[in-house]
Amino acid sequence: MTNSEWDRIVGRLRDEVGDAAYRSWLRPITCQGVNDGSVRLGLPTRFMRDWVATHYAERIRSLWGAENPAIRAVEVVVEGTRSATALAPAPGSAPAPAPQCAAPAKVIPMPQPDTDDLGAQLDPRYTFRNFIVGKPNEFAQAAAQRVAEARAVSFNPLFLYGGVGLGKTHLMHAIAWHIREHNPERRVLYLSAEKFMYRFIRALRSQDTMSFKEQFRSVDVLMVDDVQFIAGKDATQEEFFHTFNALVDQGRQIVISADKSPSDLEGMEERLKSRLNSGLVADIHATTYELRLGILHSKAEQMGVVVPQKVMEFLAHKISSNVRELEGALNRVVAHSQLVGRAITLETTQEVLHDLLRASDRRITIEEIQKRVAEHFNIKLSEMSSARRSRQVARPRQVAMYLAKQLTSRSLPEIGRKFGGRDHTTVMHAVKKVEELRDSDHNFSEDVELLRRMLQG
Ligand code: ADP
Ligand code: MG
Repeated sequence: MTNSEWDRIVGRLRDEVGDAAYRSWLRPITCQGVNDGSVRLGLPTRFMRDWVATHYAERIRSLWGAENPAIRAVEVVVEGTRSATALAPAPGSAPAPAPQCAAPAKVIPMPQPDTDDLGAQLDPRYTFRNFIVGKPNEFAQAAAQRVAEARAVSFNPLFLYGGVGLGKTHLMHAIAWHIREHNPERRVLYLSAEKFMYRFIRALRSQDTMSFKEQFRSVDVLMVDDVQFIAGKDATQEEFFHTFNALVDQGRQIVISADKSPSDLEGMEERLKSRLNSGLVADIHATTYELRLGILHSKAEQMGVVVPQKVMEFLAHKISSNVRELEGALNRVVAHSQLVGRAITLETTQEVLHDLLRASDRRITIEEIQKRVAEHFNIKLSEMSSARRSRQVARPRQVAMYLAKQLTSRSLPEIGRKFGGRDHTTVMHAVKKVEELRDSDHNFSEDVELLRRMLQG
């Protein structure tokens, strides 16, 4: 093994994952040596070790295996006392002694050769335990759980669909993990539709479609992810259709996912669509604020980091596109804080995510401000323009006026009109009051700041 091997591997990875991920995760890696075909990589913290072990180690191993067949495993450790970058010697010289490490290593073993290369690797994090249930996904989750636990086939197929990053793959892996754990005798095969097609084409090329069919038709549970991929690919669809029918006829369970409902899948043959529609169709809806907040809590706990509640709320408000992005944002914030050794605050969060947040930047309206502020203080939106003066509604109203002044280009009279036709002096008074309170009351000030950031991005 040489220095340049590692350089080439890192170079490849950098192209694959992009500069930001490279700087956060790959550049800090030190290559510490080789022992008995296993490369040892060091990272400065436990968290970073876990992150690299789950996200990059497998890829590093396979790149390394391609560079140098003698390398069969990659282990990721927390750097020990030796801080210098220790690179193993060139081939021919004696292997470097294994350095001491501060925490137990995570070893990514070589996959078993060919016994089960039909399916895809399951992500160990994608379990039912780690899946947070909320209104948007409760039906899909319950259906998946049912399939995982059922001894007999209850609906066939289970068809899960929803937008990108909402948990379809997670649920499918969860089914597979559950069955592996509780009914290890049942053969579960999970793969993407893309991989299905690839295998099929390979079988055609090598004129080995018999064993291809055999392999698929001998499973108890077949899961095919992202089936929209085979839309418009007629030969693959045809084969898939036959596989599907053969399994259903034998009473085997099938689970399918796609980004659209069966009827909306364009470029799919009608007979396949109607087959896909014939079991239970469960959709996963876009996330809600509550679900996003729940997911953030669970992820932070899994990472073993403490993230201030205000930062979680901020993220849950701002990153509403999908769970993958939300996770990505949290990871970036946590990684940043670990790398620079500073606590996570609203300020650092906004700094770290400024590119993400700018994307959701737009012009802010007074209506939006009223809505957000009312939600935040838990009062009715109508109180923003009502005549009531009790502190409970007057204070939020003042905050909304203040923010309207700060965040829009409306004049005081215009703002007053939007708050139930109030006079411009009332707005002026509100602005002054809020400024005073911000100076004297730290919590209040933080609340207002949070609202401002949420509205502004
Ligand atoms: P999809 O396959 O629908 O595009 P994934 O299953 O890959 O989405 O989910 C994207 C990411 O979001 C994964 O890391 C997954 O663990 C996470 N995720 C999605 N939904 C949830 C949830 N309800 N609870 C916890 N994590 C979730
Ligand atoms: Mg997926």
